Amino acid sequence: MPKPFDLLIRRLASLLPNELKAVEFPQLLLPNRHSLLLSQRRATMIVNRVRLFAFLFALLTPLWSVIDLIVFDYPLWSSLAVSRLLASMAFASLLVFYRPNGNLLDAYRAIAILFFIPTVFYVVSHTLITGHQLEPFSAAVATGYAFLPFVLMAGLAIFPLTLAENLVLASTLLLAQGLAGFLNWPVLNWPSYAGGYWLLVLIAGVTALACMSQLAFMIALVRQAIRDPLTGILSRGSGTEILHLLWSNAEQNNGCLALAFFDIDHFKAINDTYGHEAGDRVLQAFTNNLQTRMRGSDTLLRWGGEEFLLVMPNTDMNQARRALQRLTESGLGVRPDGTRLTASIGLSERCADRVASPTALLELADHRMYRAKTGGRDQICSTPDGQPEPESCAQRAYC
Ligand code: GH3
Ligand code: MG
Ligand code: MG
Repeated sequence: MPKPFDLLIRRLASLLPNELKAVEFPQLLLPNRHSLLLSQRRATMIVNRVRLFAFLFALLTPLWSVIDLIVFDYPLWSSLAVSRLLASMAFASLLVFYRPNGNLLDAYRAIAILFFIPTVFYVVSHTLITGHQLEPFSAAVATGYAFLPFVLMAGLAIFPLTLAENLVLASTLLLAQGLAGFLNWPVLNWPSYAGGYWLLVLIAGVTALACMSQLAFMIALVRQAIRDPLTGILSRGSGTEILHLLWSNAEQNNGCLALAFFDIDHFKAINDTYGHEAGDRVLQAFTNNLQTRMRGSDTLLRWGGEEFLLVMPNTDMNQARRALQRLTESGLGVRPDGTRLTASIGLSERCADRVASPTALLELADHRMYRAKTGGRDQICSTPDGQPEPESCAQRAYC
C-alpha cells in the first residue's frame, strides 16, 4: 500500500472508538453480526429508553396546552388540546403496555410506535393551525410546532443503534419532512425551509455518531462482562444465559438441542509438572482449536477450570455424536510432553433424552461426563445409564 494512503487509513482508523477491537467494527454497521446476548441486551436497553422517552412526552405534551390557551382562540385551542391529550394517552399506553423482553423485533416496533405518535400529532396540529388566520404573535408561537422533527431526530441519539438502523430511521424522518415541505410548496418560505432541512441533516449525522458511540461502549461492556479473560470464550454466567435462550428457541420450534460437557483428563498433572502458565497455554490452545472447528451456530463456554460446554442448536443426538467424534479424532490438543490432550465428554440432547429443562439437560451431560471419566477417560458417553454406546460412534463399546 502506498505510504500516504497507509498513513491516511491509520489516521482515519484512530478516529474509531478505541474501546473496540478491529474485528468488532463491522458490528457498528449492521445488527446481523451481533451475538445473541448483545442483541438481547440491546433490545432491552432500546425498549427501556423508549419507555423513558414515552414517559417524558406523556408528561410534557399536555403541558403546552396552557401556552396554546393563551395564544390561540377558542376552537383552535380546544382541538389542539384534544390532540395533545390523545398523543399523551398514546405515549402513556406505550409506557404501560410495552415491557422489555429481549426481542429485537419488539424493540424496533417500540421505536416505530414512539416515532409514529408525534408524527401523527405533527400532521394533525399542522393541519389545524394552517386552517386558521393567526395574529403575528400566535403565528410566532405556531412555528414552535415545526420543531418537532428536530426533537425526534435528536431524540434518536439516546438509542444504541447501528449505522444501518440509524439510516433507516433518520431517512424516514428526512423523507417525512421533505414530503411535508413538498405538500406545503406554494406557501413555503424556501430559504428558511432549505436551511431548516440542512440543519435536520446535520442533526441526523451527529445523532448517528452518538448512537454508534453508545453501541461501541455497549459492545465493549458486553464483551468484558460475558467473556472469560483467559480463553476469550463465553464465561459461565453468560453461557448459562445463552443455554436458556437456545433452549427456549428449541422449545418454540420443537427442535433438537445437544449439549456436550468436556472435562480435560489429568489436567492437574500439567500444572504440577510444567507450571500453571503451561496449563493456561494448553487451555487457550484447546479452546482456539475447538472454536476453529466447531460450527458457527455452536457455542463454546468455559464452565469452570478445565471444564467446558459445547452447546449445539438444531443438532440431534446422532449428529452431535458424529461432530464430537470428528473433533476428538482430529485431536483436542497437545500436552506439554507432546502426548495427546484428551477429555471425558458427556453428551445429552433435548429430544432424545426427553428432558424438561436446560438445567436437567446440563445435569445429564455432567452425569455422563462423570461416567466417561470413571469408565476410563478419553471417551464420549451419550446413552442412558447401563446402555452401550452405538456401534458406529463408540470409541469404546461402553462407558
Ligand atoms: P481428571 O482426569 O480426573 O479430570 O483430572 P484433573 O487433573 O483434570 O482434574 P482436577 O479437577 O483434579 O484438576 C483440575 C485442575 O485444573 C486443578 C486446577 O488447578 C486446574 N485449573 C483450574 N483452572 C485453571 C486455570 O485457569 N489455569 C490453569 N493452569 N489451571 C487451572
Ligand atoms: Mg474437572
Ligand atoms: Mg479434569
